[in-house]
Amino acid sequence: MYCGNCGKQVEERDKFCPFCGAPQKLNAAKKAAPLYAKVIAGIVVAAIVAGGVVTALIVNDAKDAPPTADVPSVSAVSP
Ligand SMILES: [Zn+2]
Repeated sequence: MYCGNCGKQVEERDKFCPFCGAPQKLNAAKKAAPLYAKVIAGIVVAAIVAGGVVTALIVNDAKDAPPTADVPSVSAVSP
């Protein structure tokens, strides 16, 4: 990260800038990021799970009701 006072690069664990001595506000930025990342991670996981369920349902439907099953019955009834 960079010092907000002098703009030089400082260690993230440094509480004070080693160049100008200005206090570094690390905790506020560090607390906000994980919360935001957790929300996005939750949405991504939910989307992946939902996509897997939908795919499984579609595959099961295709196995249970093959499209060719309807064709012989319709042609047998019409004449
Ligand atoms: Zn500084």
